[in-house]
Amino acid sequence: MRVLVFNAGSSSLKFGVFDIVPRAELAQAACVFKGSFDRFGAGGCDYTSSAGQSRAPHTSLAEATQAVPDALTAAGISGIEAVGHRIAHGGAEFAHAQAITPEVFSKITALIPLAPLHNPANLEAVRVARNVWPDLPHWAVFDTSFHLSNPARATTYAVPSAWRAAGLRRFGFHGTSHKYVAQRAAEELGQPLRDLRIISLHLGNGASACAIARGESIDSSMGMTPLEGLVMGTRSGDVDPGLFGYLSRQMGLSIAQIEAALYSESGLKGLTGSSDMRDVETRAAAGDADAQLAINLYAYRARKYIGAYAAAMGGLDALVFTGGIGENSPSMRRRICDGMEFMGLKLDHDRNMGLCLAGRAAPQIQAYGARVNVLVTETAEQLMIAQEVGNAIAAPAALDLRIPVAVSARHVHLCRKAVDALFGPGYELTPDKPLRQKGHWAARERVTLHGPKGELANVAILGPLRARTQIEISRTDSFALGIDAPIRQSGALEGTPHIRLSGAAGQYDTDGLILAARHIHMNSADARRLGLKDGDMVDVTLDATGRGLTFAKVLVRVSENAFTEMHIDTDEANAAGITGAVEGALSGEAFMKGAGG
Ligand code: ADP
Repeated sequence: MRVLVFNAGSSSLKFGVFDIVPRAELAQAACVFKGSFDRFGAGGCDYTSSAGQSRAPHTSLAEATQAVPDALTAAGISGIEAVGHRIAHGGAEFAHAQAITPEVFSKITALIPLAPLHNPANLEAVRVARNVWPDLPHWAVFDTSFHLSNPARATTYAVPSAWRAAGLRRFGFHGTSHKYVAQRAAEELGQPLRDLRIISLHLGNGASACAIARGESIDSSMGMTPLEGLVMGTRSGDVDPGLFGYLSRQMGLSIAQIEAALYSESGLKGLTGSSDMRDVETRAAAGDADAQLAINLYAYRARKYIGAYAAAMGGLDALVFTGGIGENSPSMRRRICDGMEFMGLKLDHDRNMGLCLAGRAAPQIQAYGARVNVLVTETAEQLMIAQEVGNAIAAPAALDLRIPVAVSARHVHLCRKAVDALFGPGYELTPDKPLRQKGHWAARERVTLHGPKGELANVAILGPLRARTQIEISRTDSFALGIDAPIRQSGALEGTPHIRLSGAAGQYDTDGLILAARHIHMNSADARRLGLKDGDMVDVTLDATGRGLTFAKVLVRVSENAFTEMHIDTDEANAAGITGAVEGALSGEAFMKGAGG
């Protein structure tokens, strides 16, 4: 599949054309063409492409976007099937690539306050490109998505609850880059990503560190905005938030002035007058004290994050350098890694100096025998965006259909005989709350379960009545009761243990005690769309809240009018760290055969 990718900034437009194989290894993806229009001004802009450098007449991002078809024609490129757009901020909602519908476009627009420099330019390119290619699918790939797997302790600021309720939280950026280099490192090391603890250092004009454990981002140095974290070209990175008040009171600066200075007049530029690491390194070598301090500070801050993230992951298997500075500055890589032998991190001098990154190489530069692998690789955000778009288009159903997950607390289904014994002959249960499955309800009445070890009171009764009584508990409950219950599908009650129930009017002894096998109720339409049938087993990865668990072997139960929903018990929910509403995405063999083919 041929995908055109845009990465639009306020003063530049980068674009590329990639041939990718949906859902295949990244190694199979090929870059067909790359171009960039830079430094828009009244006199036009610079144009760099696979064919060389020249001047172009375009004075704005919109004009440059409109000029891309001609640039592609000139390079003899046709057959574009989809357009991918890099979007800086996707907020808490967009965990995957999204087809850009009017609704998605407005949601990205609503996120502008969180990325005032980036999202407007990204959206401008989307707007123009949709006019230029109205018949192609346009997809958004977000810099924030990869980090939505971060646990709450990493994303939460310790601030008043009203602020948090207003959306204040950490997001993290450069996600596409961190995800790509982590995959590339795993490939290079010949180890599955799920077995590795990786720190990725993306050191470009913007810079961030990311801790990647078992393939998932668990923390990253940028926060709610791309201002937090490492020292950058013109951004300060971490500062004491107390400086806002001080600067306002002592220097009479407004919030807008302070913010503008932290974004545009800080970092390397604030320390040395130049935001370009090449200049800074040249001046430091010539003895400039400001430049020397800047380099020390830059490396020190990166080193602190390495230590912090190694601690967060309980160890470190690989460190990956990328971005203009990470890729091209052996002396910065050296400074950052110096003094880290205590944790098994040590560079080999010759390997560090003699790198070749051509052809998507990812050379290893650790000293022989060092415990931590250190790799350098060019980031390939555009390629990764193309791959994500291709994957998403190849599996629309997977991305469309998020399965809501419901947590079933312990409950019973009663037969007529049981109700008679527990509440009196002929008693009718009182439906209290409707359940999401049509015609099902929770009753107002409750029962108590009695086991040899203990009792569980106030257990819900779900209606309507069934032919056989069934009691569904969690494994933890089985310990509280002192009865070992087997994992069973609903209704498969042969040979299940006995238990005593008590209700308002009496007791009832019955078999039917089970731990319900996790399952998905699915209506026929959703099942058809996903190529699934009753009895199939799928894997379900819960969305990026909680502990990001994948549940294997989830039984699919198809019925005509079911509300599509996955049911797990309280132990499973606790294992996954679920606290509120959560959704899951399908994977697994049955699903892959169905939706992928
Ligand atoms: P962006 O984040 O805008 O994509 P890059 O990833 O291209 O930026 O990184 C730009 C940074 O990389 C600049 O600070 C530049 O000075 C630095 N850089 C590029 N080449 C070298 C080099 N050979 N030595 C040191 N720094 C370099």
